[in-house]
Amino acid sequence: MRRSFKFPLRPTVHQQVALTACLDDHRALYNAALEHRRTAYRMAGVSITYGVQSADLKHIRADDADGQGRWSFSCRQATLRRLDKAFAAFFARVKAGRTPGFPRFKGKGWFDTVTWPKDGDGCRWDSQPEHPSATFVRLQGIGHVRVHRHRPVRGTVKTVSVKREGHRWYVILSCDDVPAEPLPSTGAVVGIDLGVASLVTTSDGDHLDNPRHLSASADRLAAAQRDLARKKRGSARRRKAVARVAALHGKVRRQRLDGAHKAALQLVGDYDVIAHEDLRIANMTRSASGTVETPGTNVAQKSGLNRSILDAGWGVFLTILADKAESAGRELIAVNPRNTSRTCAACGHVAKENRLTQAEFHCQRCAHTAHADVNAAINIMRAGLALRDVTQAA
Ligand SMILES: [Zn+2]
Repeated sequence: MRRSFKFPLRPTVHQQVALTACLDDHRALYNAALEHRRTAYRMAGVSITYGVQSADLKHIRADDADGQGRWSFSCRQATLRRLDKAFAAFFARVKAGRTPGFPRFKGKGWFDTVTWPKDGDGCRWDSQPEHPSATFVRLQGIGHVRVHRHRPVRGTVKTVSVKREGHRWYVILSCDDVPAEPLPSTGAVVGIDLGVASLVTTSDGDHLDNPRHLSASADRLAAAQRDLARKKRGSARRRKAVARVAALHGKVRRQRLDGAHKAALQLVGDYDVIAHEDLRIANMTRSASGTVETPGTNVAQKSGLNRSILDAGWGVFLTILADKAESAGRELIAVNPRNTSRTCAACGHVAKENRLTQAEFHCQRCAHTAHADVNAAINIMRAGLALRDVTQAA
C-alpha cells in the first residue's frame, strides 16, 4: 500500500535562504522550459518533448555550476516532468474538444513544491539516524534539515518533496509497502451524506465535523481577499495583505484536514461497510443545476469563494476516508446520488416537494418526517447495499 507522510521542517535561517533559492531556481527552470515549448510551438508548430528538455538540462547545469548546478539533477528533472504533465493534460483537453488555457508561467508564490523522485538520489530521509532525539532529511544544496517527525514512518520511502505553505516548510514522503492495520470487525453498515452544515451526516443520525469554525475562517479569508483587491500593486500594504491571505488559506486548509481526519477515523472505527455518494456524478448534477439542490441555510448562500472552500472539502474528505478504509480493511461503496435526497426512506415516494428546506424532510405521501440529511444517508446506505448484493451475486 502506498501512503504519504507529511511533517513540518525546522530549517535554520541559513537553510531557509537555501530552500527559498531552491524553489526560485526550480520556478525559473519551469518557466524557461515553458517559454521554450511555447516559442517552438508558435514559431514552428513543433512540440518539444521532455526528453529534449532533459538533455538540455545537462548543458545548463554544466554552464551554471553555482546556480542551477547546485541542485540535484533528478529533482530538476522532476520539475521538467511536472511541466510535461501540464502539457499532456492540456493536449488531452484539446483532444476532448474543449478549449483549455495554455499552461501558465508560475509567478512568485505560485510554485511551492520541489520533489526528489528517489530517496538517496540528491536527498536522504533520516540522514542522521545516530542522532539521539531528532530526525533530519538531507537535501542537496541545502544540508541536513531538522524534521518535526511527530509519528513513525512506515514502509519504504520512495520520493521526498519539500513544500512551502505561507511561512512554513514541510517535507512530504511518499512510501511504498506500508503494512495495513486491519481493525476488528464491528458488523455495522452505514450510509453517509456529505453536506454543508455538517461535513458528514450518517444514516444512524450522527452529524460529524460541524465546520462552523471553518466557515468563520472562510469568512475572514473572503474579507482579506476583498481587502487585498483594493491595495495598490507594489505597495507595502499590498504585500502585507498578500501575506494575510496566504496565512488564512493555510489555516482553512489545516482546519479542513483536521476535521476530515477526525470524521474519517470515527467512521472507519465504527463501521465495516461505508456507502457514500459518488462525487463525480454528484458534481456533474450540481454544476448542471448551478447550485446545490436546495440552498436555504445561510451557509449555502455565502459568497462563491466560501462555497467553493466548503465544496472542495468533500473530495479531500473522501480521499482521506479511502486511505484510512484501505488501511483498516473496511469496504467503501460509491453510489449514484440521484434522488437520494428527495426519496422518502419510509415509503419510497420520490418528489422534489418532499424536501422543502435544507434541513427538513417531509414526505408528501406518508407524512414521514426526518432530518433531510439523515433521510438521504439512509437512502445512500440502501443503494450501497443493493449495489454490493449485485456485485457479490455476479
Ligand atoms: Zn413516505
